[in-house]
Amino acid sequence: MRREAKITPQNIVRRSSFVVQQPILISDFNGKRQTPNILRLGLFGGTFNPIHLGHLRSGIEIQEAFSLDKVLFIPTAIPPHKQTWNLLPFAHRLKMVRLAIAGYPFFKASDVEKKIKGKSYSIQTLRFFKKIYGPRVELYFIIGMDAFLEINTWKEYGDLFALSHFVVMDRPGYRKAQIKQFLLQKISPGMIYYPKEKRFLHPNGFSVYLFPITLMDISSTRIRTLRQKNKSIRYLVPEKVEDYILVKNFYAS
Ligand code: ATP
Repeated sequence: MRREAKITPQNIVRRSSFVVQQPILISDFNGKRQTPNILRLGLFGGTFNPIHLGHLRSGIEIQEAFSLDKVLFIPTAIPPHKQTWNLLPFAHRLKMVRLAIAGYPFFKASDVEKKIKGKSYSIQTLRFFKKIYGPRVELYFIIGMDAFLEINTWKEYGDLFALSHFVVMDRPGYRKAQIKQFLLQKISPGMIYYPKEKRFLHPNGFSVYLFPITLMDISSTRIRTLRQKNKSIRYLVPEKVEDYILVKNFYAS
């Protein structure tokens, strides 16, 4: 079996098509690469308690649309914004992510938030990847609309928009006008909207893309609730994740 090459700065340089140069921040939305020398990394954070098919399907659609070299699934070690009483230990959530993505070449699991001490703040995660890769990386922070509309409560949230693009997964019930108002009021009054690309451009050159994903009405909460009621979770999570949950008897009442 071919082992997936580890993403390291050395590997990036070794890949023949990569030449170190200054990043071009405006990227093509339609999948054509305008930045062939830059590693495009999608960062998909979440509690993943457990990871489910909604996460995985959106990861694929975003990877393809943005021509990302990798999408990193990054389980939160200590979520700053969520209740933790029913949170499985980090190692099990990471294991389920690994089982879920095994064999899919564009996905990788990252334990970076376990390595960073204390609560898992996205600003630290973004700085970590920027520090490792420097100007050779373009980061795409993948986030659900619900979570995005609370981003102004996150630590040093203004700085997030100076490190990464955002891909906001569009879900029903949110209107463009609402998001526009949020971005102008909470993030920057200088945001400009490009309707054709469903993209807001920040004055500093980074973009917030509104990206319509295939809507799958699945949530980790629902999976935990089904388990508590002793009902099946099949076809909501990958089979290997289901097996793991059943063998370990996770989320049972
Ligand atoms: P919980 O029900 O425990 O709150 P969740 O299902 O929302 O969990 P998280 O791990 O908190 O999962 O989510 C990580 C990211 O995935 C968030 O940005 C969230 O908005 C997004 N997300 C959650 N469910 C879906 C889904 N069905 N499709 C696409 N994105 C999703």
